[in-house]
Amino acid sequence: MLEARNVAFLADAMLGNIARKLRIFGFDTVYMAQAHDDEILKIGIEQDRVILTADKELFKRIVKVGGRGVLVSGGASELEDLVHILTKNGITSVGMNGIGSRCSVCNGHLEERTSDQVKNDDRNNDDVIVPDKVIACHNQFFQCIACSKIYWEGGHLKRIRALVRNLDAKLVGRDCTTTTTSCYRASSVSKG
Ligand SMILES: [Zn+2]
Repeated sequence: MLEARNVAFLADAMLGNIARKLRIFGFDTVYMAQAHDDEILKIGIEQDRVILTADKELFKRIVKVGGRGVLVSGGASELEDLVHILTKNGITSVGMNGIGSRCSVCNGHLEERTSDQVKNDDRNNDDVIVPDKVIACHNQFFQCIACSKIYWEGGHLKRIRALVRNLDAKLVGRDCTTTTTSCYRASSVSKG
């Protein structure tokens, strides 16, 4: 279930939905909703993160200082934007292994919990309560070690898995049209 991804991202203010999706897939993704471009550049480079932006001027600055970045359309299609970001980073498959490893709200790591640990009883305080009806029909839970949010297998994860299958199909199509093995190193990070 828990898998470390080897690419880390930093998404700028316009790309909150993209950032949440990347976290759900298991990618270490910082989202900076209110930061100045200078700060985004600084943190991206210091932490060796691929900076995702829809801002052409910021992207030019990333290239100029030798940082890693991907210029994202930030509009038309979230699926196409994700395909573009992953392709630019040489990722030819997202897979299901990273799902459930990161908190979509804060990027913290998730740890597995038993139903007893997330039950609403005297041992727990109010912010870690899972409704009884959820406890009754689920036996696998995850909790963010940073913000304490609790996750369980729900309808939205089915949609996420469908999205990943869709993405992976497109990623394969993108890089492997003529070969089967070279696609794994066909794409490198955009340098401009
Ligand atoms: Zn969290």
